[in-house]
Amino acid sequence: MLDENITYFEKQARIYPRSVKGRYRRLKWAAIAVLLGIYYATPWLRWHRGENLPDQAVLIDMPARRAYFFGLEIWPDEVYFITGILVLAAVGLFFVTSLLGRVWCGYACPQTVWTDLFVWVEEKIQGDRNRRIRLDSQGFTFERIWKKTVTHALWILIGLCTGGAWVFYFNDAPALFDHIRHFDLPWSVGSWILGLTASTYLMAGYAREQVCKYMCPYARFQSAMFDRDTLIIGYDAGRGEPRGKHKKGTSWEGKGHCIDCTQCVLVCPVGIDIRNGLQMECIACGLCVDACNDVMDKVDLPRGLIRYDTQRNYDDRQAGRATQSRLRLWRPRTFYYLGVLSLVSALMVYGLFARPRMELHAIQNRNPLFVKLSDGSIRNSYVVKILNKTHEARHFALGVTGVPVKRLDLQSATPLDPADLVVEGGMVAQYRVMLVADKQPAYRLPITLTAQEIDGGLHDSAATIFVSGDEP
Ligand code: SF4
Ligand code: SF4
Repeated sequence: MLDENITYFEKQARIYPRSVKGRYRRLKWAAIAVLLGIYYATPWLRWHRGENLPDQAVLIDMPARRAYFFGLEIWPDEVYFITGILVLAAVGLFFVTSLLGRVWCGYACPQTVWTDLFVWVEEKIQGDRNRRIRLDSQGFTFERIWKKTVTHALWILIGLCTGGAWVFYFNDAPALFDHIRHFDLPWSVGSWILGLTASTYLMAGYAREQVCKYMCPYARFQSAMFDRDTLIIGYDAGRGEPRGKHKKGTSWEGKGHCIDCTQCVLVCPVGIDIRNGLQMECIACGLCVDACNDVMDKVDLPRGLIRYDTQRNYDDRQAGRATQSRLRLWRPRTFYYLGVLSLVSALMVYGLFARPRMELHAIQNRNPLFVKLSDGSIRNSYVVKILNKTHEARHFALGVTGVPVKRLDLQSATPLDPADLVVEGGMVAQYRVMLVADKQPAYRLPITLTAQEIDGGLHDSAATIFVSGDEP
């Protein structure tokens, strides 16, 4: 029985981060501008591929089952390239994390970027931290209603732009934009835009730091990539303690440099006190560094009471040993990550240059396995596909080895010549192929179907079987 008098879940306290100016805040704005610029501009980049081919540089064309990334064209059977890109992104992230700690979380993660944008809007409309707290403590006043309405309207607008930009990656951007302008959208596209608008609004407007705390798996396991030489945000307790208020002009004798102003806590977007040590919630955004440096400037003390540094340096300083001013780049784990990165990159480059420009696939029809003809011959049928991955029409001759066939026919509404099959550029041609041969001594013969380009070097083969007679 649950005791109704006990509260099992702590109510989430709303965080009102104070705005701050400084080097890391500027860096964050620069990162946001670059990343959002890339996100919104990429679908509008053009890349000429030839006639009748999409000219969008980055496009995932679902109906045509094709993905385009500048000069790279990925077919459905080459999805391993996408796997390779994801592996590279993941290992690249591990490498950066082992060097610079959680910079991805603090500067580049979409959750951070959009939350920053939403907080900026909130601050512009409702004012800085204290004004926002005051506003939320008011009842339904006119000021509160109009400020909240405008804030939420702008949030929804940003959400709409986010969802709107996303669907451009899956459609021709100018054509789709035209449809959007005329409110003439397929329901599938419209529902994606609405879904992404809603998720952006909820994640950046409401969930915010809770996404990092409770939903993001990366936050949980990235400490596995840390070592004593990874950059972390830290408070120099040796210099800061004993903390306490300080009156300007009085001596610092017997006092630490932390004046307990809590500015580092008030600016923190996840609401933690970094003076309690590194915590899982810290996204290494550096805003507490800016806040504390500002305070240090005001009390005429050197900056860096809170700073990016390595655990090794913090320990060495504590023990009175010399510290290292440069980041130790070459460590076992960075070698390991770089090794994996190089290996996967090399495999992908090799795969890119070695991938075939045409493919042949064959599947034997199982129902029936074979047909006995009136003259005693055996007929097997196959579904054969020729993938022409070039952009021009190619002519192929179909052949077979492994069984002495009497006839190789194609079943189709219009007569087709297996010695000259035309496959248009970028297309998959499918045929029903009939092989007729005398009854063979073996019940099941391994055979190979072949396709050779006429007047060209493209060729491929597909292994299959020829079933001859009843199973012994
Ligand atoms: S901002 Fe600096 S001085 Fe102020 S409480 Fe934080 S660590 Fe101490
Ligand atoms: S403790 Fe500092 S670096 Fe960490 S999240 Fe808070 S403000 Fe950002």
